Amino acid sequence: MTTHVFQFPCLKDNYGALIHDSGSGRTAAIDAPDGEAVIAAAKAQGWRLTDLLVTHHHADHVQGVPTVRAAYPDLRLVGPAKEAARIGGLDLEVREGDHVEIGRLAARVIETPGHTAGQVAYVFDDDDIAFAGDTLFSLGCGRVFETPMAVMWSSLCKLAALPGETQVYCGHEYTEANARFAMTIEPGNADLVARAEAVKALRAKGKPTLPTTIALELATNPFLRAEMASVQKAVGLEGSDPAQVFAEIRRRKDQF
Ligand SMILES: [Zn+2]
Repeated sequence: MTTHVFQFPCLKDNYGALIHDSGSGRTAAIDAPDGEAVIAAAKAQGWRLTDLLVTHHHADHVQGVPTVRAAYPDLRLVGPAKEAARIGGLDLEVREGDHVEIGRLAARVIETPGHTAGQVAYVFDDDDIAFAGDTLFSLGCGRVFETPMAVMWSSLCKLAALPGETQVYCGHEYTEANARFAMTIEPGNADLVARAEAVKALRAKGKPTLPTTIALELATNPFLRAEMASVQKAVGLEGSDPAQVFAEIRRRKDQF
């Protein structure tokens, strides 16, 4: 076992994450919400940052890049080709299906447009670890800012198709609020009720609810369950196209 992940809260409700290959010593940060926090996290682990994998162009994911770069001048900055102009300074632009090697580790790039038009997720298939940025959250998903709703639905379907045991790291700790909304859609879902209680207990102790897993999200996250009869019925769209059902759930969440 040579893969180590370290997740840490920063800013108001963001998460930073580091993934480390103890064989090669290489360490990648996923996004840089707060440069000082990313550097401090690496130092606390005794890891030297070699790579920074950006999921999307929003300021709360890239504003720390210059600070991290200043501390690690040979850092490789990796990010979505489709947002290269908005992020700036990328050393490696990635697209769907590309692989990024972090020492022995390999991240597969999945394009997940919706929240932003060029957003990507990084999936370490061999380790069953995925970094989903602001596309998928536990019991929720990102707001759809830059594409039609159906595009976001397709992106979520790509993530949902990963193995159930995949550990999913997300950009924000929104789970408790997401649980309150999810309960309005599926109050009779026993898995959701149990998850909502577990989340409440974790947050009461100040503990993270992430990472989550694809299996847990498939069982509890209404945005991944737009094909389920119970969810379709809850929003009055029985038998409808799941993309349409998804759009209706997203619309309701926006107003919740
Ligand atoms: Zn974002």
